[in-house]
Amino acid sequence: MNAPLTPVQHDSLQKSDRQSQIVRALQAQLPAHALIWNAEDTTPYECDGLTAYRQRPLVVALPETEAQVAAVLKTCHGLGVPVVARGAGTGLSGGAMPHALGVTLSLAKFNRILKIDPVSRTAVVQCGVRNLAISEAAAPFNLYYAPDPSSQIACTIGGNVAENSGGVHCLKYGLTLHNVLRVRGFTAEGEPVEFGGDALDAPGLDLLALVIGSEGMLAVTTEVTVKLVPKPQLARCIMASFDDVRKAGDAVAAVIAAGIIPAGLEMMDKPMTAAVEDFVHAGYDLDAAAILLCESDGTAEEVEEEIGRMTAVLRGSGATAIAVSTSEDERMKFWSGRKNAFPASGRISPDYMCLDSTIPRKRLADILLAIQEMEKKYKLRCCNVFHAGDGNLHPLVLFDANDPDELHRCELFGADILETSVAMGGTVSGEHGVGVEKLNSMCVQFTAAENEQMFGVKRAFDPAGLLNPGKVIPTLQRCAEYGKQVVRGGRLPHPDLPRF
Ligand SMILES: Cc1cc2nc3c(=O)[nH]c(=O)nc-3n(C[C@H](O)[C@H](O)[C@H](O)COP(=O)(O)OP(=O)(O)OC[C@H]3O[C@@H](n4cnc5c(N)ncnc54)[C@H](O)[C@@H]3O)c2cc1C
Repeated sequence: MNAPLTPVQHDSLQKSDRQSQIVRALQAQLPAHALIWNAEDTTPYECDGLTAYRQRPLVVALPETEAQVAAVLKTCHGLGVPVVARGAGTGLSGGAMPHALGVTLSLAKFNRILKIDPVSRTAVVQCGVRNLAISEAAAPFNLYYAPDPSSQIACTIGGNVAENSGGVHCLKYGLTLHNVLRVRGFTAEGEPVEFGGDALDAPGLDLLALVIGSEGMLAVTTEVTVKLVPKPQLARCIMASFDDVRKAGDAVAAVIAAGIIPAGLEMMDKPMTAAVEDFVHAGYDLDAAAILLCESDGTAEEVEEEIGRMTAVLRGSGATAIAVSTSEDERMKFWSGRKNAFPASGRISPDYMCLDSTIPRKRLADILLAIQEMEKKYKLRCCNVFHAGDGNLHPLVLFDANDPDELHRCELFGADILETSVAMGGTVSGEHGVGVEKLNSMCVQFTAAENEQMFGVKRAFDPAGLLNPGKVIPTLQRCAEYGKQVVRGGRLPHPDLPRF
């Protein structure tokens, strides 16, 4: 007679039964090459850019048509199987991390640019098109797609829509939200759905704004209409050094206060400039406590006038050195360091965790100084690069994921940064999303009642709770276990309400 099963054996048997059931059901809907479930094939999907957390999915589906996307969703809905949409997997908050009992729905094959319309200055693209590919396709018409995440060579527009992604030029041109007109996709039940329209404003409630940034929890995007903008005639960049982070932070606030909206306004601290300089040799001032990159674009006259005004403000704020790019090559060289900040951090540490909180611009120096204290407290190094003009921080905490204690200290360090940002009047995420990474800190940002309202929106779109469950919004139980739940006079929601 066989020995009784241990709980672990029992669990994995149940899992493999579930896997067989899902595979059989999806085989009826998809061609053989569009379905993978063996461990060696599904392992590449086990994480996104937040590599500290991994989970293999039961099955990966790679549909090629909208009809197949609908069929996958309908099938999973019928079986009660969670579905996690995935673009390029460059997300930094674990948003595309698979569900242990779910299907990962890869949209990688939706990579066609359907239309570039230079008259209406729009492009219609499938969700798996890379961000940079849109600008490349629009270039012959002297147009481009403005939001430019540093991952733009790889990340998809579907992922950008889900995260409401930003980038260096979003200070002037707006985030994904401000550059998308229409999103087409499918509900958790596999029904087609459209948000927005071809005109600047669509009738009815602004559900487009709701779905942009919803991290794959409300619908699966298959097609997006984006705005295109004319390429500026000229762009020039100022690189300014400061001997003190407070002066650099105050300079950022002073530029904006002077009524200037630079095309980009980025800041790096000394550890960050040292890491990137060693990697790309961008010519950064290694003695500076912080450097600012401040860009102007427009006509030659506009740029000359704005560069003059920005230089004056930076000098008045105590810049110790100022260089202005004199050619496109030199401008690209200035930016090469900033654009390579993440890989440069990967060169000096086995792992890094990139945080993404926001703070009011005037608190930039305060948070940097607080982070310096946290480095001592958690005994870990941190390099800082930020979209300073937007007050969006990207502290990169360096650690070794193979050392459980370092990973734990890194998590505490990260949570401390997020929650200190909230205490300074900011938010836990500027552009990378909440995913799994910031779930606990959402308890500090929002009251239980506010989180419950977000669950209410989720339930309105996805009553069975199958799209990307367990992410973004913390449950009451999670906040109770975390031991922190902000109360701002909000009443706790009724305990009998259904939970996801
Ligand atoms: C080196 C580096 C630099 C980065 N720089 C920036 C930056 O400057 N600015 C910035 O904002 N981000 C940045 N990121 C983060 C990341 O690239 C963005 O969040 C990007 O939008 C993710 O796109 P993706 O296609 O890789 O999505 P994924 O990582 O695959 O998925 C991200 C989320 O979107 C959902 N999703 C993906 N596709 C769909 C779809 N079709 N329908 C519904 N939901 C979907 C997923 O479920 C998940 O929740 C950077 C990442 C790296 C690694």
